[in-house]
Amino acid sequence: MSARLLDGRALSKGLREELKATFARLAAATGIEPTLAVLQVGDDPAASGYARAIERTCKSVGARFVPHLLAGDTDQAGVLSALEALNRDSNVHGIMVLEPLPGHVDENAVKDRLHPGKDVDGVHPLNAGRLQMQRPPYFVPATPAGAIRLLEEAGVQFQGRRAVVIGRSDIVGKPMALLLLHRHCTVTIAHSRTVELPRVAREADILCVAVGRPAMVRGDWVKPGAVVVDFGTTYTEEGLQGDCEPESVAQVAGMMTPVPGGTGPMTNAMLMANLLEAYRSAVGGEG
Ligand code: NAP
Repeated sequence: MSARLLDGRALSKGLREELKATFARLAAATGIEPTLAVLQVGDDPAASGYARAIERTCKSVGARFVPHLLAGDTDQAGVLSALEALNRDSNVHGIMVLEPLPGHVDENAVKDRLHPGKDVDGVHPLNAGRLQMQRPPYFVPATPAGAIRLLEEAGVQFQGRRAVVIGRSDIVGKPMALLLLHRHCTVTIAHSRTVELPRVAREADILCVAVGRPAMVRGDWVKPGAVVVDFGTTYTEEGLQGDCEPESVAQVAGMMTPVPGGTGPMTNAMLMANLLEAYRSAVGGEG
């Protein structure tokens, strides 16, 4: 068997075309340009690379991208005051704070201060709590939201199925587990202290991996016919690597997301979908 590869690039492109048309219609009706501001502190290469990717994505949907680059030695008060200015700016509809922040900046304090209505990556505790309770409105972190969309488009059935999510970060693993739970999967969350991880993984009809260890999951961790979602994004000398060993997993899985070209492109599209929600609630409009 060779798994069906779920093409996140193609789906992302289609979604971004739809979003572009909607943004254009609303912008023409309101005269207000949809705007995403990105706050970056210091010049960490991963954060800078992500900022460039977000800029390209904004361009692809016709949204304005406003970068705010603060010097790496900006103190906590300086970061918070820059964030407050973006919170107050009615021309800014979505805000992303890029990680990693320098060590002297308290990330949680920054997330707590972000305007929940502009929090397009769902990192504010209010959005995380509302997601957990399924009490809209809330923003879902873009990466798990994109993975769910990819699975839904592929016709994956959720109800009653066993799902295992390896990884429990606030931005990928935990929200992915909640989204699966809300779709009536029976969900196990695994992590670095899980014992007999390959056995736990093999129980999954839907196996999601968000760890950051290239080729950790091999074919013998996968139940035959399972759906495998690989969130892993690790840059190595051989290029971008996921958390699954692609050849052996593809021999066993029924469907899998490739790296690159699976969950990554979907993240960008869902970020823009969240920006549309934030923009709509700021400017009004049906579109
Ligand atoms: P993270 O915050 O570092 O979390 C990693 C998780 O993996 C932790 O929960 C950790 O467990 C678990 N883990 C570490 N070693 C393990 C092991 N040997 N066995 C089982 N679990 C283990 O990472 P993240 O932000 O969730 O990101 C995870 C991966 O997704 C990274 O490669 C990242 O680059 C990628 N990512 C991709 C996208 C995308 O758009 N595709 C977006 C965001 C992130 P403990 O909690 O016990 O430490």
